[in-house]
Amino acid sequence: MKTTPTTELSHLKADFPILDSGVHFLDSGASSQKPTPVLEAMERFARTSYANVHRGAYKLSVASTEAYEAARRRVARFIGARDHNEVVFTRGTTTAINTVAFGWGMENLEPGDHILTTEMEHHANLVPWQMAARRTGAILDHVPITEDFRLDMDVLEEKLGDHVKMVAVTGMSNVLGTIPDVSRISHLAHEQGARVLVDAAQLVPHRRIDVNDLGADFVAFSAHKMLGPTGIGVLWGRMEALEETEPFEGGGEMIADVTLQSATWAEIPHRFEAGTPPIIEAVGLHAAIDYLDAIGMENVFAHDLELTGIALERLGDVPGLQIQGPLSLEDRGGVVSMTMDGIHAHDLATILDENDVAVRAGHHCAKPLMRCLGVAATARASFYVYNDVSDIDALVKGLRRAGELFGVG
Ligand code: PMP
Repeated sequence: MKTTPTTELSHLKADFPILDSGVHFLDSGASSQKPTPVLEAMERFARTSYANVHRGAYKLSVASTEAYEAARRRVARFIGARDHNEVVFTRGTTTAINTVAFGWGMENLEPGDHILTTEMEHHANLVPWQMAARRTGAILDHVPITEDFRLDMDVLEEKLGDHVKMVAVTGMSNVLGTIPDVSRISHLAHEQGARVLVDAAQLVPHRRIDVNDLGADFVAFSAHKMLGPTGIGVLWGRMEALEETEPFEGGGEMIADVTLQSATWAEIPHRFEAGTPPIIEAVGLHAAIDYLDAIGMENVFAHDLELTGIALERLGDVPGLQIQGPLSLEDRGGVVSMTMDGIHAHDLATILDENDVAVRAGHHCAKPLMRCLGVAATARASFYVYNDVSDIDALVKGLRRAGELFGVG
């Protein structure tokens, strides 16, 4: 049995002060922890360079604006964007998807048009499309998952047709860990003239992406799942797709001119950034990307996958435990959902917490997927750079203890 990942990153644990308590933190899929360089970058900026951006003629505001725009360029480089103006800062993945569902959807969807999404979406990539469909008369359809927890590509191909105007798909399921083939989906969708949005909240933190290779038109993700702060996320849009999109929020920062009756929009991306943006958070995201790039995203993904492999192997021996997700590591990331016969997921998580193992329990904002799996909830362990085999040991030990307490097995 393999016990040590070859991509050993556990020396990084020391960079994460919150882990000093000894907690086995296995909930990075919900929100990751922040390393000292990110915390320090934000504090340093707040102490020395903070002011509102894009407005002041004074030195502090110029420095602050430069830091905010440097973060935009850093994000663009990280995801392979050709033009940093394709990077829009939002409040998070949810706001990024709403920006497209409303800003693009209201402009481009007509009664009878189809929006195609999937059975494994987070509510953030489902509810905004339900709202857009209701307002425009478009029809919301979905692609099911197969018995082995993959996206059913045959059904996707069948459902793609002239009437599909938007394919909104997850880059990696936050419940199953499944990574759909987004490049192929984008290719197929584009052949039919549809636009593609990828909810990359779980993908970008863990795997190197190049937005051009991915081929989608819009990609959304959040800083807080990639070692950065809450309150900032990214909507990347191909420039021609952003040009088809109307701002969905109005206010300061996003205008070129305003009269009492009307307004014209600022250039892209500023027209999508109404109000004072998350400035300190942008500095934090910049530092988080620097940190991840110093590790190397290939190493981050290899590490996640090695831990996932070890976890799947060991969890397979726990009596009464089912894995709700692919058992093979192919096209999969480091999220492992579990159910145990006769024990509610919340009870599992509570018993694990008594062993200082932090996992998430619930429907994971994916209620349609829970119905499809035939479960009310799962307990979910998710891995990131600071995890190591000791976290898996503690997880397995806690699960065995839960089984014993409930007489499972
Ligand atoms: N999509 C997926 C797949 C997610 O896992 C999450 C976060 N749980 C979101 C969207 C929403 O992200 P946020 O809450 O940062 O907007």
